[in-house]
Amino acid sequence: SPQLVWFRQDLRTHDHLALTAAAERGPVVGLYVLDDETPGEWKPGGASRWWLHHSLASLAAELKERGSVLILRRGRASRVVPEVAKEIGAGAIHANRHYEPWWREAECEHGDFVILHDGDVLHEPDAIRSGSGKPFKIYGPFYRALHAHFPPAPPLPAPKLEKPAKLPASDELDDWNLLPTKPDWAGGFSDWEPGAAGAAKQLKRFVEHAGDYGRERDLPAVDATSRLSPHLHHGEITPRQVWHALGRKGGDKFHRELAWRDFSRSMTLADPDIGSKSQRPLGLRTRHGKAADADFEAWTKGRTGYPLVDAGMRQLWVSGWMHNRARLVTSSFLVKHLLIDWWRGAQWFWDTLVDADYANNSQNWQWIAGTGFDSQPFYRIMAPLAQSEKFDAADYIRQWVPELAHLSDADIHDPWGRGKAPKDYPEPLIGHKEARERALAAFKARSS
Ligand code: FAD
Repeated sequence: SPQLVWFRQDLRTHDHLALTAAAERGPVVGLYVLDDETPGEWKPGGASRWWLHHSLASLAAELKERGSVLILRRGRASRVVPEVAKEIGAGAIHANRHYEPWWREAECEHGDFVILHDGDVLHEPDAIRSGSGKPFKIYGPFYRALHAHFPPAPPLPAPKLEKPAKLPASDELDDWNLLPTKPDWAGGFSDWEPGAAGAAKQLKRFVEHAGDYGRERDLPAVDATSRLSPHLHHGEITPRQVWHALGRKGGDKFHRELAWRDFSRSMTLADPDIGSKSQRPLGLRTRHGKAADADFEAWTKGRTGYPLVDAGMRQLWVSGWMHNRARLVTSSFLVKHLLIDWWRGAQWFWDTLVDADYANNSQNWQWIAGTGFDSQPFYRIMAPLAQSEKFDAADYIRQWVPELAHLSDADIHDPWGRGKAPKDYPEPLIGHKEARERALAAFKARSS
């Protein structure tokens, strides 16, 4: 009988356990449901929708080439998926397992109507538990437990597919309006190539210079990281595939970074509300009201007067991605220098990142805010000017903050402090020393 494969954040045909299992049992229909109801406030943001449009077009072409088809439908997945299954007389519905809490709920809304398969992680976090049988909440012991399962399973090739004679109706991708219209803010996204072929190219490129990863991954001006995050988030490539393609090339450091993605999923199992509630509320009096809103707006626009912060925020807006070092500095700046609630920043990232990922984004924001089960303490306050010098961000700033491009390496990190700021560059929203004292005072006065 025909088999239905429900695609979510696994938009590929290779190393896809659900698709392979379905292909062994009969002709296959692929289904993607644009579901803006089930995730609630976590429906895909603007940048993710841009990516999704192109990735779906690519998956449809891949499935067609292999002999099957991608059907597009809109609505609540727990209703639409069984409906389409009925329309095609499906023997079974297959899907890869995901760790977003809303997907886990949807999967059991009508009993277990989906056969779940493993495969979008190095090793299923569900199967990596602490001595007491609970999901890990601390990275160190999690990594040791994950490491015991290395090497991860080798990736599977794409299966040969057939499709049933009678096919259900499909929406037109263009009718979903996933791309921005006016204004079209996605002009700077053109360096990305969403889809499995783009992911494979990116991986190949990374493998060639992965030997430098350990040394250069923290330097925002150097293109030393894999830039695979949006491809991994949308499941156009699997972490197991990346792991095997790299071998020892990225060193232990790369394995550890990739493992953070698995760890974030483990944390989401332990705490499904990780995106909206502080795991360990600090009881801080954060800033609200007009002045805080104006500071938040300046932060989103990359107009804080701190060059590295501004470079990061502008890179995010223009390209849909931000270097990890800049993510650390910009998020810390919002939470500690501006004393604004971390989830406001997390929501901005959610809307503007092409790799916006519930587990990774939430886990990292809680880490930086000092509210996570596993996190940096709040009182450890990053100095954005010193970070800029330490990680040699001059060329990164030149690229993203053109009004500072003419400044020397010595002046560019702190143009106001050096008396070299051009007229069109904003004054710092707050001085570093003052911000640090304000944050520490708020921490001291906290109510819990
Ligand atoms: P590489 O260094 O090449 O790493 C390879 C892969 O490992 C990444 O693609 C990613 O899947 C995983 N990875 C690396 N670092 C982390 C990490 N700290 N946590 C979880 N996974 C990691 N990453 C996202 O994928 N989506 C997000 O929404 C996201 N939000 C973040 C928010 C903040 C405040 C911070 C500090 C970090 C966030 N990250 C997020 C983690 C990290 O910054 C990105 O994964 C990384 O910069 C992506 O670039 P890359 O693919 O070149 O990374």
